[in-house]
Amino acid sequence: MCKEVLTNRRGSAIIIVYAAMVAIIGFCSLVVDMGNLFLTKQRLNNALDAAVLAGSQELPDTVDNVQNQVEEYFNHNAAENFSLTGVCVSDDHRTVTATGQASVEYFLAGVLGITSSTVNCTAAAGIEPLTAVSGVVPIGIKQQTLLFNQKYSLKISSNSDFDEYLGPGTFGVLQMGGSGSSTYEDNFKYGYNQKIMIGDVIYTETGNKSGATRDGINYRVSQCTHACTPTNFDPACPRVIIIPVYEPAEPENPTPDDKITKVRIVGFATFLMDIPGDKTVGNMSYVDGYFVQMVIEGESGSGAVNQGVYATGLII
Ligand SMILES: [Zn+2]
Repeated sequence: MCKEVLTNRRGSAIIIVYAAMVAIIGFCSLVVDMGNLFLTKQRLNNALDAAVLAGSQELPDTVDNVQNQVEEYFNHNAAENFSLTGVCVSDDHRTVTATGQASVEYFLAGVLGITSSTVNCTAAAGIEPLTAVSGVVPIGIKQQTLLFNQKYSLKISSNSDFDEYLGPGTFGVLQMGGSGSSTYEDNFKYGYNQKIMIGDVIYTETGNKSGATRDGINYRVSQCTHACTPTNFDPACPRVIIIPVYEPAEPENPTPDDKITKVRIVGFATFLMDIPGDKTVGNMSYVDGYFVQMVIEGESGSGAVNQGVYATGLII
């Protein structure tokens, strides 16, 4: 009798221990495997985010390159168990969406009969005309229809053949953070460190500022080591400048004899600064640039005049 009782107790104990172990493994798998699942989804999402942001750089005009860019950046950031399952560009060429999948092997849940699962993610990035940005160069261009790869005069020199840019005594220089040659030169070299946004009304600067312009050009041109051309340039090259597009604010309807003292920012445009002569620019104080298209970091939204410079951002 005693022997039977003991046997039964041992049997009960084994069942209890087994049940407890299943519960413990189940709980551990919840922590370990679910944690792994969450982490994998996060990494897949990050890889897709980087991929669509890179792909959006090709919008809106070079959509044929979007797929390659997305694949390249996805593969660069993806783990072995990640796969890119789709890339889609919207009809208006303003949005790129990518979907991806990752397989996740379970460590502990396998004991319970669940060995793996898949996670799916979607990311999208879109472009909009730039409405606010910091780092602009303190010259600008009047609102007009700009043609890509065309050369434009962005600042005239004292012996320029052009008409006075903003009226008598002006040469195309804008005041950002104050007047004076040293402020202008710093802004020219390093870009204005405050944000400029559409609707801002800013003062024009009187005077040629030839020395500051020369030093600013030399500073930027000397850093171009990529032999940039309007059709093949490094977007990070200091010769690539962002400048405001403006309309007269004071007086609002100037005659050719009027000096425009204030301008209103209506958009932004990017130019590849021309190299005057060779790299020895001497006393030349004019700035010419080739109009180029770029997608950069900045604020976007409605209301900006679309001048070919866009801001990119994640949508989902
Ligand atoms: Zn360059």
